[in-house]
Amino acid sequence: MSLGALAEVLRASVTGRVETDFPLARLTTYKLGGPVELYLEPDGIDDLVALGKSLEELGSAGGRVPILAIGRGSNVVVSDAGIAGIAVRLGPKFSWIKQAESTLPGSVSVIAGASTPLPQLANWAGRRGLEGLEYMVSIPGSVGGAVRMNAGAHGSEVQGAVELVAVFDIDTLTVEERTPPTLGFAYRRSTLGEKEIVLEARFSLKAGDRDTVRARMDACRRHRSETQPGALQNAGSVFKNPPGASAGRLVEEAGLKGSRIGGASVSTLHANFFIAAEGARAQDVYDLVNVVKARVLERFGVELTPEIRFLGEFEERANAEVTP
Ligand SMILES: Cc1cc2nc3c(=O)[nH]c(=O)nc-3n(C[C@H](O)[C@H](O)[C@H](O)COP(=O)(O)OP(=O)(O)OC[C@H]3O[C@@H](n4cnc5c(N)ncnc54)[C@H](O)[C@@H]3O)c2cc1C
Repeated sequence: MSLGALAEVLRASVTGRVETDFPLARLTTYKLGGPVELYLEPDGIDDLVALGKSLEELGSAGGRVPILAIGRGSNVVVSDAGIAGIAVRLGPKFSWIKQAESTLPGSVSVIAGASTPLPQLANWAGRRGLEGLEYMVSIPGSVGGAVRMNAGAHGSEVQGAVELVAVFDIDTLTVEERTPPTLGFAYRRSTLGEKEIVLEARFSLKAGDRDTVRARMDACRRHRSETQPGALQNAGSVFKNPPGASAGRLVEEAGLKGSRIGGASVSTLHANFFIAAEGARAQDVYDLVNVVKARVLERFGVELTPEIRFLGEFEERANAEVTP
């Protein structure tokens, strides 16, 4: 069965949105790239079960269809040619926050749906004087994407406060409650697989002073606006910081601030942010990342690892021309 036919099956069995050849660019902060073959915006878990069942009915071919969970698209670059398979983006029904019975003494538990924007969660906690999520106020991702990436800033990261994560497995059609030791958290990564969709996450926070929490959030926002080009098209830090070093500083010391390929350039404000200008292609960002990586390796012997995720196919162009 083609994905077009699968879309018809899904349209008859889900209440959420189903589209074919659906443009993903506007669902990402880079605003680049082509369409996905099939797009599902589930309204609830039943829609995810329907997707899993439809794939199951296709037998081994269903198991091979690539699945991509997409959140607020703030850590990804979609290929200009688009991507094969199915993109699943949890809809507004997965955006909610509530306080729950605390499981640990002295802590307050807060549960948020996976499509909740991180700044909204941070502000919700801030209004209640709850400590632990202040750094999220200036990360433009969703709870699901943050769990998958173990997002963090200002010395904190998701794994520091998360207690329990509900994950839907598209292969087994089950919801599992996962604790941090089973999520394989490390610097900007977890071991969640492509077919494991985060549905919600429970955080353990500390009751504190509202003004202090708000002051910390203000400091995070101020730091961002002074040091990062947040308003432009980008996906945050391009490279992970290597042990004991700053990726941005290495790129800057290699003399690459402001360098460009096509419509992509290294930010002049912060060298670990790459900006896409009007008319840029996803391939430009890909080429710039590879050229910068090669120059830093050549100059300092340090191999940078991208933090942003490239989705789909890109050309390897070792000689892409860089404008200083
Ligand atoms: C201006 C700017 C500043 C940023 N600053 C920071 C920062 O300080 N710290 C930081 O860590 N990051 C930062 N980022 C990167 C990004 O915001 C985070 O990685 C964020 O957690 C990604 O969330 P998302 O919802 O946008 O995920 P997406 O970009 O949509 O996806 C990222 C990954 O998560 C997966 N995913 C998304 N949703 C789900 C889900 N429900 N279930 C399972 N997997 C899922 C995707 O498949 C993909 O692998 C920044 C980005 C920008 C644009």
